[in-house]
Amino acid sequence: MTERYAVVVVGGGTAGLSAALVLGRARHRTLVVDAGEPRNAPAAHMQGYLSRDGMPPAEFLAVGREEIARYGVELVRDRVVEVERGEDFAVVLAGGRTVRARRLVMATGLKDELPAVPGVAERFGRDVLHCPFCHGWEVRDQPFGVLASSPASVHQALIVSQWSKDVRFFLHTVAEEELSDEDLRRLAAAGVDVVPGEVAGLVVEDDRLTGVRLADGTTHARSVLFVGPRPVPQTGLLERLGAELHETPFGAYPVVDPTGLTTVPGVWAAGNAIGFAEQVVHAASGGYRAAAAIVGDLLMTDLDAAVQE
Ligand SMILES: Cc1cc2nc3c(=O)[nH]c(=O)nc-3n(C[C@H](O)[C@H](O)[C@H](O)COP(=O)(O)OP(=O)(O)OC[C@H]3O[C@@H](n4cnc5c(N)ncnc54)[C@H](O)[C@@H]3O)c2cc1C
Repeated sequence: MTERYAVVVVGGGTAGLSAALVLGRARHRTLVVDAGEPRNAPAAHMQGYLSRDGMPPAEFLAVGREEIARYGVELVRDRVVEVERGEDFAVVLAGGRTVRARRLVMATGLKDELPAVPGVAERFGRDVLHCPFCHGWEVRDQPFGVLASSPASVHQALIVSQWSKDVRFFLHTVAEEELSDEDLRRLAAAGVDVVPGEVAGLVVEDDRLTGVRLADGTTHARSVLFVGPRPVPQTGLLERLGAELHETPFGAYPVVDPTGLTTVPGVWAAGNAIGFAEQVVHAASGGYRAAAAIVGDLLMTDLDAAVQE
């Protein structure tokens, strides 16, 4: 006999734990399956979450795990490798266990594919950054670099000028002619220096970024480099379930209603699984919304079944 849960939550980051908290408090037998690789793991601090600003991300999730345990929610460190649709969903774990669930929450987050510049991956989340809202205050007024990955990186170069007036925009693989007149006017107005030429590597001294090295050998003294990782949504399971996706400039995400319900009946999604811009506070809120909708959905399903008996 496979175990049966009301809800299996796939992913135990903020979105998944938030959904689990609401489901547990609503007295639903809930299992969270978490592979344990939250997106913000490289960062020492989590910023911008009211009342938890500056808390280490690992501590934030550890508190969340303690909270869901109070309500009897189970959590296993494993990876969901397959989900099959039937009267219930059959949820297959890499560790060999299969469980059944009446409803699913997909809270699988996304992966950041970093630019292939030597040193970038090692320093990501420290002084190689992607999000000024996450880290801008902590590095304010320092000499910033911005590594272009496409002409759209102009937006990042402009936004970060809110935090420092010393910004150099390294065009890297983007040709200057690819920037529009409007881009160039705005960069000039923001005081951003445009630096053509491929970036070959970083200069690191005493475990701190001190410069950006171009392929022509010149070095620019910089203590912060903003990059634009390519977001890779973790939608494999949803796609195999037949969920409809929609294309965005930041990848293809499931089509969802305001509660996070996907186009597959019984399957909700929350957090970075539904969009690139979902910060921790949004992920928490998305998990809550999905869980509340599931509570109503399960109840109405059971009441309708009782009426027909
Ligand atoms: C370097 C960095 C710093 C950041 N700093 C901030 C910040 O300061 N403030 C802020 O608001 N946001 C910040 N963010 C964004 C933040 O990481 C996301 O908003 C947040 O992680 C989204 O939560 P989530 O639950 O959707 O996904 P995640 O936190 O990524 O959690 C997803 C979980 O699902 C698991 N998973 C995936 N697939 C499976 C599967 N098949 N089976 C089981 N488990 C699975 C993963 O292992 C992971 O544990 C930062 C991001 C980065 C990259």
